[in-house]
Amino acid sequence: MPCQLICPNLRCRKILSVPDEVRGKLVKCQHCQTMFRVPDTKPAPVGAGAPAAAAAPKK
Ligand SMILES: [Zn+2]
Repeated sequence: MPCQLICPNLRCRKILSVPDEVRGKLVKCQHCQTMFRVPDTKPAPVGAGAPAAAAAPKK
């Protein structure tokens, strides 16, 4: 599913919808042409079954 993120360009700040497969990759804002990396974060499943390493805070 596509994820939404905000353009890091302070003069733009448009909400961009990008496909899930671009996580961790560079994308270009269609509005201001700024290249930026999509954060490779996933919504952590809360509950049983999650490995202990996944529960550790990520820096
Ligand atoms: Zn932008």
